[in-house]
This record gives sequence, structure tokens and C-alpha cells, in this order.
Amino acid sequence: MDIVPMRSGLKTVTGAPGFRLTILFLFASFLLVTLLLNFSDAKVTLSVDGESLVLRTYSRDVAGVLSEAGITVREADKLSHSPQERVMQGMMIEVRKAFPVSVLFGDDEFVLNVAEATVEEVLDSVGINLLPLDRVEPGLGHNLAFGDVIEVVRVTQYLVTHRVDIPYREIRIGTTKLDRGESRVIQRGSNGLRQDTEEITLENGAETARELVQSEVIKLKQDRLVEYGENTVLSRGGRTVDFLKVLNVTATAYCPGTEGSGCPIDERGWSKCTGPYNNGYTSTGMPAIAGSGREDDPHIIAVDPRVIPLGSRVYIDGYGFAIAADVGSAIVGNRIDLLFDDHNTAWWFGRKRLRVYLLP
Ligand SMILES: [Zn+2]
Repeated sequence: MDIVPMRSGLKTVTGAPGFRLTILFLFASFLLVTLLLNFSDAKVTLSVDGESLVLRTYSRDVAGVLSEAGITVREADKLSHSPQERVMQGMMIEVRKAFPVSVLFGDDEFVLNVAEATVEEVLDSVGINLLPLDRVEPGLGHNLAFGDVIEVVRVTQYLVTHRVDIPYREIRIGTTKLDRGESRVIQRGSNGLRQDTEEITLENGAETARELVQSEVIKLKQDRLVEYGENTVLSRGGRTVDFLKVLNVTATAYCPGTEGSGCPIDERGWSKCTGPYNNGYTSTGMPAIAGSGREDDPHIIAVDPRVIPLGSRVYIDGYGFAIAADVGSAIVGNRIDLLFDDHNTAWWFGRKRLRVYLLP
């Protein structure tokens, strides 16, 4: 029976182990609390492009949560928190995935990935500085979506001035002071001058509009004023003669070239005035006799039939009535040749300006 000493022996030892157990217990509790705090799960909401899911996580930081949810965040994506941020109970983590948009600017095209951006922000990021007239589609404040195309049209305008002639007009004024067929300029015409200013619009370098913004007359035009004759009645020696029109012509004279006319005739038999046509008749077959110039005994003249038709009756101031009954190689245009019976008289006639009235 020597149990008692043993008991007493035990008794002496129990004081020290009790104290150690207490320390051990406190230490274990501390570890447990620390472990619980570190390894307890947290409830977070993860929203990707507006679609949310709630998850319980043991991850300690945002990056861990994302990786746990299988979400890869790229550089252009937008993340509401920094990846290193510590996970907190009830946290809301938002991710906006980047999508491609393109910018068309003249011949340039930029394609870039953006997340949650306006047109203005994208233009800034590609370094396009808008000018006041530039056109942007869609508008600067538009929130971009997947595949959007931004078009920037560079609009420039400039002014150009140039001078333009203002053409004068011809104004014709009838007057009975002049015979029909006559005209005279009573005021010379001169062009005016105008300065036009146009605004030219270029879109991406190509002209798209041109507008006249100012027009200034620098010099007035002066119209040309022409009086033309309306008189068709000739009064000569107390009587009147109706006429169609008057012609101002250059007149020369000739003789029939016959032997009796005194016209020089060469060894071929050609006369100076009519060459080989000196048989005493005109080209229309009339006897080449000068006549008196009376209405019933007219003179004979050679004409250009394109100006005075053959067979026309005319009145010539200073010579009287005549009939267009001959032609001549030198009688072209406003030319006539007056027939005289005598070569010398024709010779002395020389060359004169005459008024020839065409009669009906
Ligand atoms: Zn002659």
C-alpha cells in the first residue's frame, strides 16, 4: 500500500502542467481565429459587361476572384478595382470587356479596342484634333458599341475671287432719218467688269460645294446703240420713188469696148474695158448702150449678182435710173461699174462712193 506517496508525488507535479495547458489553449485559440479570419469565404458580386453573378470565394484579392471565375482581363478592358485589391465581404467587381471600333479619317483607317468609350475619347486617343467645320458620325458624345465605325470628314472652306466680263448688248433703234439699209453707231459698246467671290467647300480634300457669296460690279457695261434706217421713200426733183433698201457702193465706170467707143483694143482684139466681151452686148444680152438715166431709158451697170441681183432696177444719186444688166471680173461685193458710151468719159469718172437705191 504505498500508493499514497505516489499520490502525493503526483500532487506536487499537477500545479505546473495546468498552467502550461492554459497557455497552449490560448495560443491554439489565437491560431484558430487567425485561420478562420484568413480562410473564411467571402461573398462577392462579379459583373461582366452588365451580367452579374454572385460567388463565394476564398481568394484574397481581386485577381484571384477573376481567375477563379475564369475571366481574363486584358489591357484595354476596364476593371472597377485594381487586381491587387483585397477582397471584401459584399464587394462588387465590374469588368467591361474591350471591343473593336474603327475610325475612318480621309484615307486613314484606325482599328482599336475600347471598353466604355465615347466617340470623343476615341478620337483623342488616336490623336485626331477636330477643326470647327469637321463632321463626325456618330456624334462626339455617342457611347460606342461593338463594331462601331466613326467617320470623320475634314471640312475646309476658302474664298476665291475672280473677275468676269459683263458683256454689252447691242440695242437697235429704228429711225426714218436713215434710209433702209443704212445704219450708224450712236454709242460704242464696252464690256463691264464684275468681281465675284465664291466660297469653296472641300470635304476630305475634294470640292463639294461652291457658293457665290459676293458679286460686285467694278465697271458698268455700256451698251452699243445702233440706229437703223426705216425710210423707204426717196424724194428727188419734186417726185417720190419707193425703194427697198439703199447700198453704199464703190463705183467705177467702163465703156462697151466697141470700136466706136474709143476704147484701146489690143492685137488679139480685146478692149481695155471689156476684154474679149466687146461685141456691143452686155453679159445678159442687152445692147451695151449707156442710156439717159430716165426711168424709161435707164443706164446699165455691172454688179456682183450676190449683192444686187441681175435685172434689178436701181436709182443712183447723181445719175438717175439704171438696170443691173452686166457683170465684171473685178466687180465683187459692194462694187458697181457704170456703163458710159465713150471710153474717155468712163476714164475720167474714176472711182466714187455712191448711194444705190434698190427699187421694187
Ligand atoms: Zn473703154
